Amino acid sequence: MAAKRVEISGAGFAGLTAAAAFAQRGWSVRVHERAPTLRTAGAGIFVFENGLRVLRAIDAYEDAVCGAHIAPARETRDSAGRLLARHPGGPSQRVVTVVRQQLLESVAAAARRAGAEICMSSEVVDATPEGRIRLADGQSAIADLVIAADGVHSQIRDRLELLRSRVKLGDGAIRVLLPRRHDDTDSQQEIVEHWSGKRRLLYVPCGHDWLYLALTTLNDDHEGKRLPLDAGAWARTFPHLRRLIERIGQEGRWDEFEMIRLYRWSHGRVAVVGDAAHAQAPNLGQGGGCAMMSALGLAVALEQEIDIPQALQAWEARERPLIEHTQRVSRLYSRVGRLPECLRSLTFSIAGRSAWMVRQRMRAANHHPTGAR
Ligand SMILES: Cc1cc2nc3c(=O)[nH]c(=O)nc-3n(C[C@H](O)[C@H](O)[C@H](O)COP(=O)(O)OP(=O)(O)OC[C@H]3O[C@@H](n4cnc5c(N)ncnc54)[C@H](O)[C@@H]3O)c2cc1C
Repeated sequence: MAAKRVEISGAGFAGLTAAAAFAQRGWSVRVHERAPTLRTAGAGIFVFENGLRVLRAIDAYEDAVCGAHIAPARETRDSAGRLLARHPGGPSQRVVTVVRQQLLESVAAAARRAGAEICMSSEVVDATPEGRIRLADGQSAIADLVIAADGVHSQIRDRLELLRSRVKLGDGAIRVLLPRRHDDTDSQQEIVEHWSGKRRLLYVPCGHDWLYLALTTLNDDHEGKRLPLDAGAWARTFPHLRRLIERIGQEGRWDEFEMIRLYRWSHGRVAVVGDAAHAQAPNLGQGGGCAMMSALGLAVALEQEIDIPQALQAWEARERPLIEHTQRVSRLYSRVGRLPECLRSLTFSIAGRSAWMVRQRMRAANHHPTGAR
């Protein structure tokens, strides 16, 4: 019997995880990426246990975590540097921080090893519920399954009218990757979320060589989101971090946070995965983790099922509740960030001590994804 065929639009974390997982299950896989090279926007990335389990399942773990940082703890601090909450890591509660490009390339390598074909400069402009895709160069192809993993601006999703809501959350981040210096400005091994006013500076060691900083603020903070970074303005907000902020220089990019919800995650033979289906504010560091979980879960759902639309419904019913829970908690976190400083500090310190609240926040991180060993 001929192998089933899947055409995937987008070579981000979702598309490449799906590519690896389907190819490992004997499918013939082709990924279309409109960019000329594999690249990922942003700087570093958090991968929690759920993401690590997916990476193991698709045989990308060793490459992905090679040289990565495992933080002893994550801390939240107020404008005076006082500790509000501390979440220690542990052998089964790791948070690994890694340069994004390394993570992306490790997943791509796993997909290629399993036999997936990745076509660069190949843009998918349309997909039909019958499984036909059309490319920008005029070619078309028919497949048993089409996966729209084309990110938050997904054209396929919008053309199939699956979008239920797309909410701009009113905040965003400037992200930078700095060469790590082994002096007092970046000797700290913990991940630290520094809050002051409406601004937050996330300090993230990212392996031996890199330090990842994410500076988040509200979208109407024109001074705070200016690029190149207004180091003076940020140093006034975080005087104790001045030396670190002054190193940023010309680096950085601004991204606004969005939340996506769909009426349903599939239409006929087209499945929508990753940010295209469920983008979320990055407060829990789970957008990529959820993208990888839903992509692996999709391959598992289709492993033995003959009726593809029915399998897609079963996949959505299984994966969607946890991902929507994660979106909700992440959005709530953004709202807490906007509270006046004293109220926010109080909320963080209560939330850090409440076992129930920690469980809600960590539910995705502690999850055993479908298909993980
Ligand atoms: C500030 C910030 C910090 C974050 N931090 C974390 C974190 O620490 N941990 C975490 O897990 N997540 C994090 N996330 C979320 C994470 O980056 C995303 O959830 C993840 O990248 C989504 O992957 P994706 O593959 O769905 O989409 P994308 O990464 O957007 O990939 C989509 C791909 O599709 C391609 N494409 C688009 N249209 C087409 C087309 N028509 N044809 C062909 N190709 C196309 C694009 O070029 C792109 O390569 C963060 C997000 C932000 C904004």
